[in-house]
Amino acid sequence: MSHCPFCGKKIAMSKAFCSRTCKENYFQLIAIQIPKPFLKRIYVFCNEEQREEEIESFAKRHNWRVDLLKTKIEEVARDSGYIKPTSTSSKKH
Ligand SMILES: [Zn+2]
Repeated sequence: MSHCPFCGKKIAMSKAFCSRTCKENYFQLIAIQIPKPFLKRIYVFCNEEQREEEIESFAKRHNWRVDLLKTKIEEVARDSGYIKPTSTSSKKH
């Protein structure tokens, strides 16, 4: 058994993704680039409401899905230390 790299669902070894949607989402997520100044602006100078607006207009400008963009932003923000990793989502047991 293998796992879908996008949603983590179990899939047959012969398959790379569980569905077409997961494949598309996976590659779109890779294609999304978050510029450092944008990340800094939305986390340092914006409140939560402004951040949502910035993310939405950024997604529209590049034709990206907002939910995928948010996922990517959170990932990058965590790596850059803008978001503190929460203990509840820890992968260690
Ligand atoms: Zn999947």
